[in-house]
Amino acid sequence: MKRVLTARFMHETNTFSRVPTDMAMIRRRDYHLENEIPIAFRGTRSAFGATFEAADKFGWTLVHPVSANPNPSGIVTDDAFERIIRMILDAVDAKGPIDGALLHLHGAMVSESREDAEGEFLARLRRRLGTAVPIIVTLDLHANVTQQMADNASALIAYRTYPHIDQYERAWQGAELLERAMRGEIRPRTVIARRPMIYGLDHGRTQRGPMAELIARGEAIERSDGALVVSICAGFSRANIRDVGPSVTVTLDDQSARAQEIAEEFMDYAWETRDFSTVKLLSVGEAVALARQGKPGDKPLIVADYTDNPGGGGYGDATAFLKGLVDGEVGGIAFHAICDPEAVQQGMRAGIGAKTTLTLGGKIDPPMGGGPLSLTGEVVCLTNGRFIAYGPMGGGIERDYGPSMVFRVGGIDIIAITNNGQAVDLGQFTSLGVDPTRYRTVAVKSMQHFRAAFEPIGREVILVNTGALCSEIYTPELFTKVRRPVWPLDPF
Ligand SMILES: [Zn+2]
Repeated sequence: MKRVLTARFMHETNTFSRVPTDMAMIRRRDYHLENEIPIAFRGTRSAFGATFEAADKFGWTLVHPVSANPNPSGIVTDDAFERIIRMILDAVDAKGPIDGALLHLHGAMVSESREDAEGEFLARLRRRLGTAVPIIVTLDLHANVTQQMADNASALIAYRTYPHIDQYERAWQGAELLERAMRGEIRPRTVIARRPMIYGLDHGRTQRGPMAELIARGEAIERSDGALVVSICAGFSRANIRDVGPSVTVTLDDQSARAQEIAEEFMDYAWETRDFSTVKLLSVGEAVALARQGKPGDKPLIVADYTDNPGGGGYGDATAFLKGLVDGEVGGIAFHAICDPEAVQQGMRAGIGAKTTLTLGGKIDPPMGGGPLSLTGEVVCLTNGRFIAYGPMGGGIERDYGPSMVFRVGGIDIIAITNNGQAVDLGQFTSLGVDPTRYRTVAVKSMQHFRAAFEPIGREVILVNTGALCSEIYTPELFTKVRRPVWPLDPF
């Protein structure tokens, strides 16, 4: 019976965030050890869900030491990085010999000492397992993929959807590849191509444009057996590291010059289309004016704060748009969310039905999207913030936003949460008694992932710029560590 190592260690590190990612942050949500992992993920449409099904199908014995998936935030402490990696490497020693590995990583993790945290981890695992053992890795399509990652993984399989709804399918693809490799049918080898660019491919949007075109071309090559895997990553641009940016990795059976040719050809296209963008940001004033519109019976307008996206390391506590709504006395608004554990605790002490004044949001870095707001309102709902997410990105997995509250200020139902996270599931409203389909306007904080669940319930989607942490700012002052010359900092 084959013994397969699987583990999940995913973090998208926004190096500009002032919130460090330490063990306390990692333990706060979606953190499971050993036998907790099958309980949490068996039967779900997730990467681990697929991994457990594949183990049943192929008769693998799984070794599953840890699943860690903290919300995107600042640099991972060396302590946290080393602890999680040690759990995985110790499991290899204690429960080996290992015949193959199927790992679920993000690909944009930065620790205090390692800009390329996943590359460092894969290099250490490769040394431990040796060159003959296949290591298959699923990645987020926002991975900043490096040469070190390509050299030490047998295959890198990136998501092909943004919003990301294909983790399950990608993990199955990885499992089938791993099984073939362990049987000795194939020897997967991966090459990488990159260009001097901080971002591109429309930040990975897969609805239309160059990302969608390259994914379709890659899948056609896979179907015709021209490659085992073609992965296109848009990169994660909120990272001041040398290797930030898009990449294409190609996996073929054994060494082949053709793999590099495909990768270079694809990256030529990413380079040519680097200016392409489908994003149009409105000012707070413009968004407030639109939020006021809507007739009774209309579906809601969906307004997303693009720049305070907790899914990209945003603090989730920017107040500029909320302030615009309050000052404009706009009603019929459901607002998700202000991440403010202190305000939630104050609301809990006041109790349901209490009329009270709270200082809400804007506390972590006030210039980033607006400072604290003093608001008088009513505490209308309090929950533990836990529910099972059944939406397109939910997979039937429990989510935990920590103690949560609905605070009603005039005609605005403001959701305040303890554990930061972007709006991706209607349950983030309905679990608090807020039916988002019944409001004039639904405000969320997210760049793109909200679309999977919220676009279908809205009449229109607009994006607002509050000047928060995830603003599109590319200057040499911010990107001090990136390789140069690089677009768009230098002329090409
Ligand atoms: Zn992503």
